[in-house]
Amino acid sequence: LKQGRQNPRYPCACCCLQRVDECEGTILGFTLRPYKMSYREVKYFSFPGELLMRMLQMLVLPLIISSLVTGMAALDSKASGKMGMRAVVYYMTTTIIAVVIGIIVVIIIHPGKGTKENMHREGKIVQVTAADAFLDLIRNMFPPNLVEACFKQFKTNYEKRSFKVPIQSNETLVGAVINNVSEAMETLTRITEELVPVPGSVNGVNALGLVVFSMCFGFVIGNMKEQGQALREFFDSLNEAIMRLVAVIMWYAPLGILFLIAGKIVEMEDMGVIGGQLAMYTVTVIVGLLIHAVIVLPLLYFLVTRKNPWVFIGGLLQALITALGTSSSSATLPITFKCLEENNGVDKRVTRFVLPVGATINMDGTALYEALAAIFIAQVNNFDLNFGQIITISITATAASIGAAGIPQAGLVTMVIVLTSVGLPTDDITLIIAVDWFLDRLRTTTNVLGDSLGAGIVEHLSRHELKNRDVEMGNSVIEE
Ligand code: ASP
Repeated sequence: LKQGRQNPRYPCACCCLQRVDECEGTILGFTLRPYKMSYREVKYFSFPGELLMRMLQMLVLPLIISSLVTGMAALDSKASGKMGMRAVVYYMTTTIIAVVIGIIVVIIIHPGKGTKENMHREGKIVQVTAADAFLDLIRNMFPPNLVEACFKQFKTNYEKRSFKVPIQSNETLVGAVINNVSEAMETLTRITEELVPVPGSVNGVNALGLVVFSMCFGFVIGNMKEQGQALREFFDSLNEAIMRLVAVIMWYAPLGILFLIAGKIVEMEDMGVIGGQLAMYTVTVIVGLLIHAVIVLPLLYFLVTRKNPWVFIGGLLQALITALGTSSSSATLPITFKCLEENNGVDKRVTRFVLPVGATINMDGTALYEALAAIFIAQVNNFDLNFGQIITISITATAASIGAAGIPQAGLVTMVIVLTSVGLPTDDITLIIAVDWFLDRLRTTTNVLGDSLGAGIVEHLSRHELKNRDVEMGNSVIEE
């Protein structure tokens, strides 16, 4: 704790604590695994983690709105146009590089050798009863979607959890009743309908629409001179208030992440069922993600900014660990903001403008994974893909990653688009479900890393516009 307080990079004790919780969660999980907890016991055990997820999700929508409105209002149209352009070029470039890496590693390693008959399809029966009423009560104190909470009655939420498929997406795929392929597909369709009603949605709300509206709104009030002053101040202080709530949640985050990780390890299937092809597939995804996250992105950051990417990444540790723990880049967004602004000193006008958009549409890890997984499924089906089909996979994987929501396992759902585009059997998604909970954590971490390094790069490229704006507004300019 003392070290954490003394280190300027990790100014508060929780930052220091956060660095060990992942590892403690893993140890706790493996220690408790031999006790073979029931599904219900695991749910109770993971409850502190689930609460963290809900608290973070609860802040995401107000954070997206307030940060984008204030971010846009603080920039002039020329600066925001240029900054937006740079962000989009960065997003597209890195997503395409990620897809290419995914395709190259899966072709070279060829994890799909053999036939799919040797592979295990994920399936287990879970009883969902009404006994969760008390926990539902506490869950309802932290509605992940404030907008929905305004309109839906408490009862509805309870009914949803008790009588339908559990809504928490992590458990929906792995924990729902999947006995055979057709039921698995039914579940996938249901998740698609329930969790991803609109591409780019967050917690059932059309986040992409909110992003566009907030940007336009911010742009307008930014140009309203005195008349817009009250609104600018309102959104500014709303943003400040949300960030203070984030600071409070960050104290709880280490505990939540510890239970999220431990709960998942207690619950996961025995590794014995992961056969040769699936193990190779897992290794291939890890190799691809590592190349992108550890070599390509830091190199790109260095080439553009000439600064040490590892110092920057060190400041992001807390966000990366949260991404690993929650499997959701949207839920991680509040922590990403904190890390970038407080640890790395990235200009708030850039984070507010770039991060909400990045968390919604820029998902390098997901794009890499979608292309790689589709080719893996082609390999296990002995389906020879021609060059045109590989290009189709690249394009649809890019689109699917843009459309995927920043929630757990959304990439698995949007993969249906990629498989359908080249006529691969969508049923075969069930072949990779067993390891997806784990790979999802890794690709989410890559997604958050990509967004964060992007913010650093855009800030560097936009430094002149930011400085001019400071001069215009009479702010003190800090020379580099
Ligand atoms: N879980 C990922 C994210 O939140 C999306 C995915 O499933 O690939 O970034």
